[in-house]
Amino acid sequence: MRISMVSEHASPLAALGGVDAGGQNVHVAALAKALARRGDEVTVYTRRDDPSLPTRVRLGLGVEVVHITAGPARAVPKDQLLPYMAALADGLHADWARSRPEIVHSHFWMSGVAALIAARRSTPVPPVVHTFHALGAVKRRHQGAEDTSPAEREWLEPRVGMQSDAIIATCSDETFELKKMGVRASAISVVPCGVDLDLFGAIGPAEPRGRRHRIMTVGRLVPRKGVGLAIEALAQLRAEGLHDVELVIVGGAGDSNGSAEDPELRRLIGFARALGVDDRVIIRGQVSRPDMPKVLRSADIVVCAPWYEPFGIVPLEAMACGVPVVASTVGGLIDTVVDGVTGVHVPPRDPEAIASAVGGLLSDESRRRRLAEAGLKRVKRYSWDRIASDTARIYRTTAARAASGLISATGGSR
Ligand code: UDP
Repeated sequence: MRISMVSEHASPLAALGGVDAGGQNVHVAALAKALARRGDEVTVYTRRDDPSLPTRVRLGLGVEVVHITAGPARAVPKDQLLPYMAALADGLHADWARSRPEIVHSHFWMSGVAALIAARRSTPVPPVVHTFHALGAVKRRHQGAEDTSPAEREWLEPRVGMQSDAIIATCSDETFELKKMGVRASAISVVPCGVDLDLFGAIGPAEPRGRRHRIMTVGRLVPRKGVGLAIEALAQLRAEGLHDVELVIVGGAGDSNGSAEDPELRRLIGFARALGVDDRVIIRGQVSRPDMPKVLRSADIVVCAPWYEPFGIVPLEAMACGVPVVASTVGGLIDTVVDGVTGVHVPPRDPEAIASAVGGLLSDESRRRRLAEAGLKRVKRYSWDRIASDTARIYRTTAARAASGLISATGGSR
């Protein structure tokens, strides 16, 4: 199939770990490559955020990334990108006139807005499949006044959900949110994110470390990722007499020493100091893709304690590296981590529960090994080849239904 992916802020070519570069970038890059391996032809459209970027870049056999000029050619926070979606739609429409997509797959609500505008202007109208990756309603519930999303998200996002021909939710929890948003149940399918099992594996070098136990958090440094909760848990463990534990924080737009420019990093360092555990916190900064497995392998436990999580690829990467996970029971982590089997579930925003789970695991090496072994088995079902094949099935049924008039392309069900 000829597939057009639209990922306005999350380029598959970007470095990861910054505020707006994480799971969506990984997802789009890996899904596109896995679809191409099946013989599909994929073009990924993203916003030009650097004037020196060539318009078309080959990402691998069968995958091309197209940079569309939409707004200033520099990094712009994603929550300020909505005004440029009309220009992105113009760029999509122009390129689709050259090569007509059989299916459009938009990622994140703003890409959905641009894709739907461009699709409606095209003849014939291509069917649009959409993945939200994150939902404004959930973000608002958790972040309240701190949410910097544009006000229009509140009404535009549900429209994307209702007007796309099919919606791919990345976890079962998301389907409830989508239905509350007004998306018809028949349009929703669940396909999780995957993990690169060629890159992430249990066998391979681990980054050298000292003799202390090592727990680790990995991800974009934004408050909702719950790194502060891991620091609180570390302080609790120390209060209970466990002094030989260090916490490695991976991510943040910085170098390996951690950039003091990053305000969230400064906040976290100050927080660790206030709790008296800064001597046990290691700021690892941004880690490149090829280095991530060896960094993960150096951990005894990976702590994933987000307040909420649309999917969360990091627990899968940790499990693939044979590292047990302590994860909050939110979003995708409810599906990926099996409590007591591949990791330990803790209630969201509960540092005592994290400390107790981590403390329990650190004192029981054979349990850690059992969880790691079960995790290794479980991640096999999350290979990108399998995710691509499930996604391609949705593309095919959506295209067939649109062609037979069962759904109107970009107009919901008839
Ligand atoms: N990541 C990375 N380097 C970093 C920080 C994060 O490669 O310094 C990757 C991480 O390995 C994972 C992704 O960024 O693949 C984060 O995805 P996740 O779904 O866990 O979180 P999201 O960014 O979608 O909120």
